[in-house]
Order: sequence, then structure tokens, then C-alpha cells
Amino acid sequence: MSKYIGPVCRLCRREGEKLYLKGARCLSPKCAIEKRNFPPGQHGKEGQFRRNRSSDYLLQLREKQKARRVYGVLEAQFHRYYKQALRSRGLTGQVLLQILERRLDNVVYRLGFAANRAQARNLVTHGHFNVNGRRTDVPSLTIMPGDVIEVRPGSQRRPYFRDLKAGDEARGLPAWLSADLPSLSGKVLRLPGREEIEANLNEQLIVEYYSR
Ligand code: SF4
Repeated sequence: MSKYIGPVCRLCRREGEKLYLKGARCLSPKCAIEKRNFPPGQHGKEGQFRRNRSSDYLLQLREKQKARRVYGVLEAQFHRYYKQALRSRGLTGQVLLQILERRLDNVVYRLGFAANRAQARNLVTHGHFNVNGRRTDVPSLTIMPGDVIEVRPGSQRRPYFRDLKAGDEARGLPAWLSADLPSLSGKVLRLPGREEIEANLNEQLIVEYYSR
């Protein structure tokens, strides 16, 4: 399966709720969910009524798809994360969410260095970040407690990061991270707790999907 490059608002409309894939626009009246909250496609409105007849399988599938879309992960990788969570100690669903939350692109987004996860992924891919002092361009890198993420000194001179430095960060920072905007750096203090994972996901349905 290849990367999705179509309109991202379509993904929210497919799931019937805001997945916050764009940033500021998601909070504005221009959000597609505010304007036309029915599934995309020619028969979207009819499909909305058909979708009301939900089977357990459909609910599980949609929840899994929703999680994939929120974090921008392809199916194969997502399944690998599930298997990794299954092998780990702890509740599989919660461990799965923790793994997703600890992806480098997500951490960059949660630190406030990007408006959304897609932008964070781009910034990482273009090599603007150091992790523990070493340059990395792997968005899927799993970040561990104690890791330090910083914008590379050369990148800090770029207009985007200069503006970020000058701005006052409004977005709430989760308690498992600490950020220092003047130096454009952040640290992972501990693993995220379930209540600190802001995505509206029912991880139990995802576990049920893969346990069929
Ligand atoms: Fe989803 Fe944001 Fe588009 Fe609204 S604006 S539909 S929340 S991506």
C-alpha cells in the first residue's frame, strides 16, 4: 500500500470526525467537518445512512484506520507496531498508543515545532533535527525517556524556525515532555500516560480488529 497523497480533509470526512490533520484550519469554521460532515464521494450522504448499520467488524476496522490516519502510518508499519505491543508487557492497546505517540514526528509535533504531524514528518525527513546530538531524518524513530530533541544549529537560522523562536507557544505541552522554545529543544521526561494521548481513539477496538 502506498502513501496517501489526496486531500486530507477527506480522511476526516470518511471517519466522520475531526482528526486534526491540518493545524489552525482544523479549529476554524473552514474545517470540512464543520461545513459538510458526511462521507466523501458521490454517494456520501446515502453512505452515511448505510453506515449507521454498523457491524462489530466495521467499528473495529474504522478505529484502526482512524489511528493510522491520525499518526500517518501505513498498514504494514501499523501492524508491526501492533505485534511489538503484543510482545510487550502491559495492556496491548495502551502500549500500541504509546509506541505511536513516541514516534519522532509525533514528538516534534507535540513539542510545538510543527503545526501538524505531516509537517513534522517533512521537517524530520529534511534533516532539521538532532536526537541526543546526532542528526536523524527518520520520522518513525522511537523516542525513549531521557532523549533530547533539538533543531540543528544550521536549521535554526531558517525563517521558519526563527519565527517559531520569536512566537509565543500557545499549544499545550503534554506533561511527559519538556520544551525550551528559545533553544528550540525538548526532552522526553517519561512514557506518556493514556490520558495524555490526545487522539480520540478506542484502542480496545484496534486490538479486537487484529485479534480476529
Ligand atoms: Fe480534518 Fe482539519 Fe480538515 Fe477539519 S480542517 S476536516 S479537522 S484535516
